[in-house]
Amino acid sequence: MTTSRRITLATRPTEQVALTDFGSDEVELPALQKGEILVDVEYLSIDPTIRGWMAYDTYLPKIGIGEVIRSAGAGRVVESRNKAFPVGSRVFGMPGWQTRAVMSGGVPIPEGVSYEQALSVFGVTGLTAYVGLKDIGKPQPGETVVVSGAAGGVGSIAGQIAKIMGARVVGVAGSPEKCAWVVDELGFDDCIDYRAEDVAAGLRRTCPEGVDVYFDNVGGETLNAVLGQIKDHARIILCGAISQYNTGAPAPGPANLINAIPRRALLKGFIILDHMDRAGEAAAEMGRWLAEGKLQSRTHVLEGLDSAPLALQELFTGANVGKSLVRV
Ligand code: NDP
Repeated sequence: MTTSRRITLATRPTEQVALTDFGSDEVELPALQKGEILVDVEYLSIDPTIRGWMAYDTYLPKIGIGEVIRSAGAGRVVESRNKAFPVGSRVFGMPGWQTRAVMSGGVPIPEGVSYEQALSVFGVTGLTAYVGLKDIGKPQPGETVVVSGAAGGVGSIAGQIAKIMGARVVGVAGSPEKCAWVVDELGFDDCIDYRAEDVAAGLRRTCPEGVDVYFDNVGGETLNAVLGQIKDHARIILCGAISQYNTGAPAPGPANLINAIPRRALLKGFIILDHMDRAGEAAAEMGRWLAEGKLQSRTHVLEGLDSAPLALQELFTGANVGKSLVRV
């Protein structure tokens, strides 16, 4: 008999995620059907979107009460009825918050790529930064790019890619330590600590000629401040709005949105699941940048399946620097 220990949804959050929103159980797993694999889950990717899946239907249906928390993750195949995933191979997919998962497939993790790399720079996080900039932001050499959530998983990679593309890059992050990291270690040109400085004032200080591209991970007041200082033909990459995910009711729209009209700005949202066919191209290019020392990837790892709810909470308090993971 094969069992799995799981973290499940107990109650739907309406505001901040609480540890009491989660339950746990141990279940017997069904025998494998043709094409399926049994995976020992070794790492979980902790993503802000899980907060949405717990509460409401979004681009995926909400998680059912009592169901395992839906999550990306990675692990080793321990039983296989799928020739593409032999026993012993490693796979990235959607196992959920549990110790073992029956999966119908996933993405093989190549030799030489660690789980932490597979779930950060080579995973959805890196791909999101890559596609957002390459397809929507398209920064030109010398243009000014602002990235919010700059010290987080997506933001830290997005800012570095914008530098590689030749832009001047200004981050927005929530502490002096985070700002120092993105400037001193990652090579951003400047950074606004939004908890210590008014963002509009910070933008006037760091981007006196205005903003060409904004990679938005947070929405809310920061988005509004940037919209007030965009240049003609600015591109706004609507990637995430984490400042809005825990509010009980939708916040009013940004007052400065009207500025997008005279500035002929483009605002475009995207969901990375629509762009998984770009994973190979992104991995090849980012792998080269990593090898050349142009790109760094940092992870924030909590230990043990039971730390997953805390890891999710931490995304909203800003305790993470880099991509948040749980080592199961
Ligand atoms: P991060 O690693 O960036 O973690 C979240 C960070 O958000 C925190 O570290 C915190 O940093 C910041 N934050 C939290 N609350 C607030 C707030 N109220 N105001 C401003 N900043 C806040 O997470 P990810 O890299 O995984 O995700 C970043 C964004 O990208 C999210 O919005 C996510 O939903 C989105 N996303 C979108 C995808 C898509 O397909 N469109 C795919 C993947 C991610 P600080 O200390 O700086 O406040």
